[in-house]
Amino acid sequence: MTHLTANYHTHTYRCGHAVGKDREYVENAIRAGLKVLGFSDHSPMIFRSGYYSGFRMPLDTVAGYFESLSALREEYKNDIEIHIGVEVEYYPTCFPDYLDYMAAFPLEYKILGQHFVWDEEKDFGSFKKTDDPMRLASYYENLLAAVKTGEFLYVAHPDVLNYCGDEKIYRELTADFLQKIKPSGIPLELNRLGFFDGRHYPRRTFWELAGEYGIPAVIGLDAHSPDVLLDEKTVDGCLQFAESCGVKVLERLEIP
Ligand SMILES: [Zn+2]
Ligand SMILES: [Zn+2]
Repeated sequence: MTHLTANYHTHTYRCGHAVGKDREYVENAIRAGLKVLGFSDHSPMIFRSGYYSGFRMPLDTVAGYFESLSALREEYKNDIEIHIGVEVEYYPTCFPDYLDYMAAFPLEYKILGQHFVWDEEKDFGSFKKTDDPMRLASYYENLLAAVKTGEFLYVAHPDVLNYCGDEKIYRELTADFLQKIKPSGIPLELNRLGFFDGRHYPRRTFWELAGEYGIPAVIGLDAHSPDVLLDEKTVDGCLQFAESCGVKVLERLEIP
């Protein structure tokens, strides 16, 4: 595989921190030779307390999201296969209400993008450095609980928690997580955005262990602008990174 044929991690302007028109993402994906383009903007989340989460599609844009992407799917059906998903957190207290709310829309898949350890109303983000092994252990536990629901297509950036404590502990907890997640068969995402930005993820130790345990990766572009679809260089970098860690890259995923 020299370039991607499918990407399931694409945002839209609705989340408030991505740019471009929906159509531009589709046209660039076709230009880049993608056969499958999945949209997965940051899903709205409903908090019973009334807390407002600022990095997501507002509730009143959700219908428009499905309308716009369904129309593009029809218009470009001879050129590319478009799927409509979301990227969403798993917060056990909100999740049932969330599923009820989304049942009204033709949602095809959800990727798990856990940006906090616990519910974001009470917790700081997973980007923030921590040397607390309990935080890492809890993060992994929450990912496993989310996967157990069977609601997710894959786990986005599973290595996003910025643990900077003892490396031996990191290896132990990560190995334990990988062994536990393996039987589910759920793919883990190697995130292009983190790679491109030189962030703390994708983390080599994580992926070398994934390689050892025979867990495959899916490359997620995490596109927040249409030009990302044309960025072959970073994708090549991600593919080489995966190869150097002994991780097999899945080209296409089955959307149930
Ligand atoms: Zn985002
Ligand atoms: Zn994302």
